[in-house]
Amino acid sequence: MTTVQRSVPRVPMVSGSAPNPYENAMKQLENTASLIKLDSDAHEMLKQPKRILSVSIPIKMDNGRVKNFQGYRVQFSDARGPFKGGIRYHPNVTLDEVKALAAWMTWKCAVVDIPYGGSKGGVVCDPKNMSLGEKERLTRRYTSAIADFIGPYRDVPAPDVYTDPQTMAWILDTYSQIHGYQVPEVVTGKPISLGGSEGRLNSTSRGCVIAAREAARSLKLNLKGATAAVQGYGNVGSWSAVFLKELGVKVVAVSDSKDGIMSKQGLDPRKVQLHKDKTGSVVGLEGTQEISNEELLESEVDILIPAALENAITDRNASRIKAKIVCEGANGPTTPEADKILENNKVLVVPDILANAGGVTVSYLEWVQNLNREHWTEAEVNEKLEQKMVSAFKSTFETARRYNVPMRDGALALAVGRVSEAIRTLGIWP
Ligand code: GLU
Repeated sequence: MTTVQRSVPRVPMVSGSAPNPYENAMKQLENTASLIKLDSDAHEMLKQPKRILSVSIPIKMDNGRVKNFQGYRVQFSDARGPFKGGIRYHPNVTLDEVKALAAWMTWKCAVVDIPYGGSKGGVVCDPKNMSLGEKERLTRRYTSAIADFIGPYRDVPAPDVYTDPQTMAWILDTYSQIHGYQVPEVVTGKPISLGGSEGRLNSTSRGCVIAAREAARSLKLNLKGATAAVQGYGNVGSWSAVFLKELGVKVVAVSDSKDGIMSKQGLDPRKVQLHKDKTGSVVGLEGTQEISNEELLESEVDILIPAALENAITDRNASRIKAKIVCEGANGPTTPEADKILENNKVLVVPDILANAGGVTVSYLEWVQNLNREHWTEAEVNEKLEQKMVSAFKSTFETARRYNVPMRDGALALAVGRVSEAIRTLGIWP
């Protein structure tokens, strides 16, 4: 089998005692419920995921011994359509993290108004220290363990942290072998040769930079000559840096799990990528100064894109954030306590469920192409993404203004409102 090339994203690890992401997600739901006077029955139904799959995944490792991995698939809500969400491979995966991510996927799909519910998968493993063969066996066994619960009209997985188009190819093949025929529409984020969409690989970043651009417009901030810092130089962070530069923004600092670099003159994102591909880190690029991840987050810039993991901005560092706009490429990078501090300091936070919705939006476009056996050009895909992102930004902005709340609360109000309307109309049966 040919390997689909893609650089493995490197993401900073959460340090210290990390806040529980599911508690954060439920706090957000509580706040939204009182803001929009959410129907109490719908609220009750949204407090827990609809289904939690917990599977053990035994793999024959390269040394001939069997190792058991823990895997999850959490299906939060399918009120608005089939479950949808990525699969994450990371040593720090926990059930509560996957539950939170599944809830956020539900809101995300509702914010951009695509006909999906929300789900998420996670496997506790250290992909950086596994061979390609071990990762393939893990992926196939995990797929077979959840095969009865996924499907084009049930639950459609996609890439997330440390999974990529090659992982999706293995899922597609395993699922198709079980069913006896080829089912490309069971996953999105596939290689183009297997029905993947043009533009999917960098769609999260393209959407994120569109959101940052709209946020800048709302603040009357001229992007030409504006400055930005990007935390995390995986798929989302690295492409965001490229697209920011295309808009005339000077990307002055970037970081990965090792540390960060800065240059007052601005970095060339492609040179940074080449250096990272060669050495395994952005650190050490000629002509740049080394900085810590904390320094990066607190640097003097107009736009900050946290594009790594949860809990990057907490009550410990939020008061030192100097950016005018925080545009969340990652899922859950800001805790609710930090949100309050940023709001007081008049930082415009473009929330994850809007800012990083470009990925799932193009996943939806990929699924539609697959179901219709079509293949669109990159220009067509990007045009549809642009429309979806601009319209979701507008609706979020207007909702936030109507309730006189920050954009996160606006996005949640919009999303939870849409999901609860679906729940109410469906009723309960049996
Ligand atoms: N993992 C991505 C996210 O968190 C993409 C999900 C998808 O395309 O289904 O939004």
